[in-house]
Amino acid sequence: MTSRPADDCVAAGTTLLSVAQGRQRILEAVAADTRHEGVELSAACGRILAETVVSPIDVPPFANSAMDGYALRSDDCAAGTTRFRVIGSCYAGRPFQGTVEAGQCVRIMTGGLLPEGADAVVMQEAVQRTDDAIAIQGTAPGRGANVRYAGEDTRRGERILAAGTRLGPAEVALLASLGLAEISARRRLRVAFFSTGDELVGVGKPLAPGQIYDSNRYALHALLAHQGVEAHDLGVIADDREAVRAAFARAAELADLVITTGGVSVGEADYVTETLEEMGEINFWRMAMKPGKPLAFGRLGRAWFFGLPGNPVSVMATYYQFVLPALRKMQGQAARAPLLLPARCGETLRKAAGRTEFQRGILKPDESGGLVVFSTGEQGSHLLSSMSRANCFILLPAESTGAETGDIVSVQPFCDFA
Ligand code: AMP
Ligand code: MG
Repeated sequence: MTSRPADDCVAAGTTLLSVAQGRQRILEAVAADTRHEGVELSAACGRILAETVVSPIDVPPFANSAMDGYALRSDDCAAGTTRFRVIGSCYAGRPFQGTVEAGQCVRIMTGGLLPEGADAVVMQEAVQRTDDAIAIQGTAPGRGANVRYAGEDTRRGERILAAGTRLGPAEVALLASLGLAEISARRRLRVAFFSTGDELVGVGKPLAPGQIYDSNRYALHALLAHQGVEAHDLGVIADDREAVRAAFARAAELADLVITTGGVSVGEADYVTETLEEMGEINFWRMAMKPGKPLAFGRLGRAWFFGLPGNPVSVMATYYQFVLPALRKMQGQAARAPLLLPARCGETLRKAAGRTEFQRGILKPDESGGLVVFSTGEQGSHLLSSMSRANCFILLPAESTGAETGDIVSVQPFCDFA
């Protein structure tokens, strides 16, 4: 680190941590909540599996047709037979009861159970049908042609989903295909949050001079909605020692995790840090990152506590870097590093050496199929419009002073598909 801006000086008794160190300390501190409960499958999306799921059945449960066509014996085809007598039909859910003998076939629909004796399906487009017979027009089907085998998707006794998996639409559908009506899920974490600041007004009310709308609580609502937690919105708390104390006490009662925004700087009306020191335990509170330098992390009763900064972009940056990994671990999800992608920088980016920057970026595909990233422009931590135009953070390391057009930079997409 060559130069360090004056405002990065560390106040007495506090520690300045890198983002990676901060995240590591947080992850070492928090533990998974192992309590679990039965959840109906229809309500299971977004929940975390408490136990590994083993398939009770083969899926598909029986060999069936992948096409609308005719089920027959491939040996007949191999022996040169091209004409087959149609002896019956088989629909999905309505099996054919007999056996297919040499020279015979059964009309079959997609999903229909492959009749006894048959081992291949010729698609209907490949045959000429007369009253009670078909003539195969093109290439004869080999053994297994257009057949979906029992257990091809999942096998009875196979481990299908590991404990700690977060269920998305595909997992819910997969569990339904196994016939499971209920799953064992980790209990939903209870997360309480509130905003602090005398200047804050709830949406839908008029603003008096000096007031602004409280956007942070809505950001947290939206961020937490993706995590399947039980959210408790405790509103706006005034910059008043007693009010902050009372809110802390209530949050500690209610929640496994408490998140506040604002009031963690060293201003005269910043009561969050001192109240946490008094009522709980504070681990650290200054991060070598921009935006989002002041950050309180600690313990409040049985709950873990995050005191995020007040500026709206700092709230989202610190949520993604610290709160989300902690939430994931507390929910029992498998650990994984944040998704970082390499992208070509589309323009010159500037920063001062000293803190890791999470600049707001617009990531796009380029002409050659790679990724290129542009800045959203002004990077003030109060600029929510810039955050909204962005689809990723551009990570510029602490020691760097920026990036040139064409440099490869690391980006962290907001939408984490991993
Ligand atoms: P603070 O950390 O309390 O000093 O706040 C830093 C900046 O963030 C100030 O400009 C606050 O007005 C602003 N701010 C704090 N809380 C919120 C909030 N909930 N919504 C929007 N802006 C906020
Ligand atoms: Mg404030």
